[in-house]
Amino acid sequence: MTPYDAPSPQEAPPRGAPLIDGFGRTVSYLRVSVTDRCDLRCVYCMAEHMTFLPKAEVLTLEELDRLASTFVALGTRKLRITGGEPLVRKGVMGLIESLSRHLRSGALDELTLTTNGTRLSEFAGDLARFGVRRINVSMDTLKPDLFRKLTRGGDLSKVIAGIDAALAAGIAVKINAVALKDDNAAELPDLIAWAHARGCDATLIEAMPLGEIEIDRTDQFLSLKDVRRDLESFWTLTDIDHATGGPARYVRVAETGGRLGFITPLSHNFCETCNRVRLTCTGTLHTCLGREDASDLRAVIRGGADDAGLVDAIRLAVDAKPQGHDFHIVRHAAPAVARHMSTTGG
Ligand code: SAM
Ligand code: SF4
Repeated sequence: MTPYDAPSPQEAPPRGAPLIDGFGRTVSYLRVSVTDRCDLRCVYCMAEHMTFLPKAEVLTLEELDRLASTFVALGTRKLRITGGEPLVRKGVMGLIESLSRHLRSGALDELTLTTNGTRLSEFAGDLARFGVRRINVSMDTLKPDLFRKLTRGGDLSKVIAGIDAALAAGIAVKINAVALKDDNAAELPDLIAWAHARGCDATLIEAMPLGEIEIDRTDQFLSLKDVRRDLESFWTLTDIDHATGGPARYVRVAETGGRLGFITPLSHNFCETCNRVRLTCTGTLHTCLGREDASDLRAVIRGGADDAGLVDAIRLAVDAKPQGHDFHIVRHAAPAVARHMSTTGG
């Protein structure tokens, strides 16, 4: 028995042929945002004063379970729970517990999470028990004051305690950091070395133009080509083939022995091998992070669709997955995509 209220068990939808888009790419990875809310307000992600969605618009845990399980029945092998901050959604551990049945049945290879880590100390043990083997924790700096500034009020010590709790529970942790000119640029080697010393991978992310925020993104943008060149002035970086099914390119850092990933949506195009789609907490399916394409699966399920109707709607959406994104950062231009990362699910 667990203290969590798992959503009531859903009928397993019938297994179907894998999801293949119009360009022949198999979709096998679903990221599910379970909330648009967050206990932090990272400067590149959210505006200081966000208006969050009314509860009625957000999928219930049962609806999230039904949609995710339908994707699993259609060949999704990897599920990532994200947000907003997934661990602030009431009942999320019940959902994770429920979805873990797909790991036990062998239908799913991986159930994972992207989190800001603030509540990880509380949940790490149960995540491990529900079959979560690796997670991503976002942390852009090791300096408590800068962390407070970048997150508008966050407490770095809670995140570090959360990372330690996850590692102690046997969960592998990857540290994700958005590279920000002027803010953490000079500190990135320390952050990477810190992660590697704990046995964690580290990944650097370029700031992406998603959603209106107060500051001009050209002031934040730092090209990872430049970061890599800088790191190579004192470290030996060797390209490795480590494939996570994601857009990160990995290197081994000889001096630390650890793995370092670069996610460069702006300076490198990763669309040709894209295997992923994203479901927002309102049930909108986005088949491309950098486009405005959207399919309203909430309307489909709340309209009373049976499993076959839902499968048809998903296939239609996946079939139309765009070939590629069109991000670019232009001074004073509107963001390429109006929705925030916290809405789409990073
Ligand atoms: N709250 C969780 C967290 O921070 O890990 C999960 C959701 S968050 C939207 C997922 C990831 O997106 C984080 O690593 C965050 O740094 C990243 N992110 C948010 N806005 C971004 C942006 N505009 N450009 C690049 N990465 C962004
Ligand atoms: Fe919250 Fe994650 Fe966005 Fe930061 S990046 S504001 S932690 S959702």
